[in-house]
Order: sequence, then structure tokens, then C-alpha cells
Amino acid sequence: MAQALFITWIWLLGPITLATTAQSFGGTRDTPIYKRVKAQLDSIPAIDTHDHLWPFETLPGYVETDRGHGMNLSSLWRNSYYAWINPITAWKPGGSFDEWWAKAREDFRNARGTSFYRYQLPAFEDLYGLDFEKITDAQARELNDRIFQNYQDQKWLYHVVTERANIELMFNDPYWARLKFTTYYPFEVLVFNVTTLVRGFHSSEFSNPWDSPYRFASEEGLEMKTIDDYLVVLDRLFQKAKAAGAACLKTTLAYERTLDFQNVPKERAAKAFGRPRDQLKPEERKEFEDFIMWRLAELSAKHELPFQVHTGQARIQGSNPMLLVDLIEANPKAKFILFHGGFPWIGETGVIVMRRPRQVWVDSVWLPTLSYTMAKRAFHEWLEVMPSDRIMWGADCNHAEGIYGATEFTRRCLAEVLAEKIDAGDLKEEHALRIGNQILRDNALSLFPQLNDRLWKHKGKLEPSKKN
Ligand SMILES: [Zn+2]
Repeated sequence: MAQALFITWIWLLGPITLATTAQSFGGTRDTPIYKRVKAQLDSIPAIDTHDHLWPFETLPGYVETDRGHGMNLSSLWRNSYYAWINPITAWKPGGSFDEWWAKAREDFRNARGTSFYRYQLPAFEDLYGLDFEKITDAQARELNDRIFQNYQDQKWLYHVVTERANIELMFNDPYWARLKFTTYYPFEVLVFNVTTLVRGFHSSEFSNPWDSPYRFASEEGLEMKTIDDYLVVLDRLFQKAKAAGAACLKTTLAYERTLDFQNVPKERAAKAFGRPRDQLKPEERKEFEDFIMWRLAELSAKHELPFQVHTGQARIQGSNPMLLVDLIEANPKAKFILFHGGFPWIGETGVIVMRRPRQVWVDSVWLPTLSYTMAKRAFHEWLEVMPSDRIMWGADCNHAEGIYGATEFTRRCLAEVLAEKIDAGDLKEEHALRIGNQILRDNALSLFPQLNDRLWKHKGKLEPSKKN
């Protein structure tokens, strides 16, 4: 019945409407406005506020192949976000590409529509000239060879990140050695990852010495006998991080626990200090962590290091950004950056920024990779509820191709939103272009003004030999 009515309706409207409908199926990306905006956004040297680019020799994904140690197509897929939602055939150490591909080529058919699959496609298309959707076995073998060849030299990373993705500076979250305060690339901005510091109640919490405030304290000749000692150590860590060039803090606690942080009195938190985990009740541990998180927010304000907080997609029982509102409001001098737009709570994230626009920023980092459509909706809505100088972006990947794909996805998504707003008469084109420039570049430069001294693109090319 409904179908019959629909057909009559279409018939009555006649061919003109049908032609218009058919045209709009091509989508925003086929329109001249989109193409103009996209070309403009592509030309902006971006400031990428978040990645995980390990030192070149230890990039995740190196495998042993039949022609030696290297990076290949399996490395790129197995270390991509795609592997989070769909299994990918394991690489057999010393194995051959043909052997792996015979099975792996079937690993994509159930998830072709996912953004976790699609964000890598622009890298294959633009960097290798290949359509992965229609790839033949011979092309896959050639792609694999070229990836292996490219990763013989770290110039590939420089080329892709700074020239092809057109990233001028990239924040790097060194979660593999959080308190080492070292950078590896000249385009890199150091991030002070404070995730593990909330567990400072006992030294046994830190299996990696580079995460341990206890190792740091002994190197600095500081005591760690009481919770007050620990607070002194934290302050010293902030001083060291800042002196090493850290621009901000970052926490990914949302993967481990709830983002509900209570304002716990010091005497209660002190009860946990000096006791190993197996002697603590879960409530005691939480109280200690909550107490430290509040101190981190205060130190963030004191040392003027804005606080990047992972919100959304993680441990989803407790990662809604609304849980942070009390902590944010009680620390008005601390600047908070809500990561991933709070996915899937993008509307909630918008209203938090709307309520505290001088204190809270939203970072769309990873969001287009999680869901391209939700990222579009987010940009549309955020531009309606907050000033355009509150929004940033980041790629959040760990190799050149992922960074390229995520960057292209973001530029595409943002260009689509701006083109749609222009087309609807909701933004003038020149204003939309200014907004694009803010999100990709200027907003980060305003929030982190010290980065203006690090800009290099107008001066020429960065060479691997000019390492920091
Ligand atoms: Zn990340």
C-alpha cells in the first residue's frame, strides 16, 4: 500500500523531480562548492593534535617475511583500527605474501561499509594509485612490495606526513614511554601522558619503568614515603615535562575506569598510599585515583598545560563526557579538550562546550575514522552550538598510511559539512573557509601559542637528519 502510493506520488511529480533526486544521490562530494572548499582545505598546513607515531625502528607492525624484516600490507591492516572490529588473518613469521593474501583477501567482505575499513582506502588510492575495493591479486602483491620498499627508510614517514597529508606539526602521545619526555621527529609536539599517574599509590603498579613516578622520584632524589611526597613528585614531573616542550596533558583513563571523579579529601586518599593493589578495596583505589585526577586538573591550570581527555568509545559504561562536568566546573582555570567528540555522545560534548566556551574545547580526533557520518553530524551541530574557535582535529594513527587516510577523511568530512552549510545558505563561502582553516590549524595555534615558533613550512623541507 505505502509502496503503491509512493509510486503514484513519484509519477505525479514527474521527471524533473526525479532528475533532481538522482542528482542529489551523487552527494555533496560531486558539487562544485565541495570541490572548491576541499581544494582550499587541502592547501592548509594542518596542526594535528594527536597521533601515536613510535620511533621509526620500533613502529608497530614490523614482521619477518621471506625476504627479511619489514613492513608490509598485513602490517598496515593488522595495525589499523579495522582489526578492532573484524579479524584479519595473522602473519606467519617468515611467511610469503601470497600465502597470507590467499586467506586475508576474504577478511574485508563483511565490513566494507565501516569507517574503520574505509579510512585507509584514500592512502592506497592517493599514495599508491590503487583502488583497494577492486584490487587484483597481482596489484595486491605489487602494493605489498611497494610498502615493504617504502619502509626501508624513514623518509617515507616524512614525505607522507608533511608533504602528502600536509601536516606541519603533529602532537605525539608516547604511551609506550610516558615519562621519558623525548621526541623522535622534528614535526612532533610532545604530549605529557598522565594516564598511569593516578595509580601512584604503590610502585608495583608500574611494570614499565618509563611510566613510573617512583623511578622518576629516585632519579630526581625525591622521597616517596607519603601522599604529600607524591604531590611534590607530580609537581616536579609537570616542570620536567614542560621544560622538555610538552604542550598539553593527555589521559586515556576511559579505557580503564569510569570518568566519574569525586572530589575526595586527602585524608581518605592517603589511606591507599603505600599499599599494593591486592591490599586495597576497589573503593579505596578509586578514591586515590579520583583524588589524584583532581590534583592533575589543578596542576594543568598551574602549569598552563591544557588537558586532553579521552571521552566516549572505550569502556562505554563510564566514558560519557557528562561525567566530567563537575571536575571541569570546579577547576575553571584548567582548560579541557574533550577527545573524539565524546563518540557517540557528540551532542552531549557540544552542550558541555556551549556551557563553558572559555574553558572547554572539542577535538574531533579519530571521530571520522569511527563513523564518517557521525563526524559529519558532529561538525554540523557543533558549528551551531559553539564558537568555531573551539574545535580541533587529529589523525590518531601509528603509521604513515593510517595518518594519511585519517587526515584525508577529516578534510573530506569537514569540506562536506562546510559545502552543505554554504549550499543551504547557512554560511557564506568566505566564512566557511575561515572556519575550515580554524579547525585544521589556527585553533591549535591559538590554544598552544608557543607552537608559532615551531612553524617551518614557509622555510622549506624537514629532513630526517635534522632530528630534535
Ligand atoms: Zn589516540
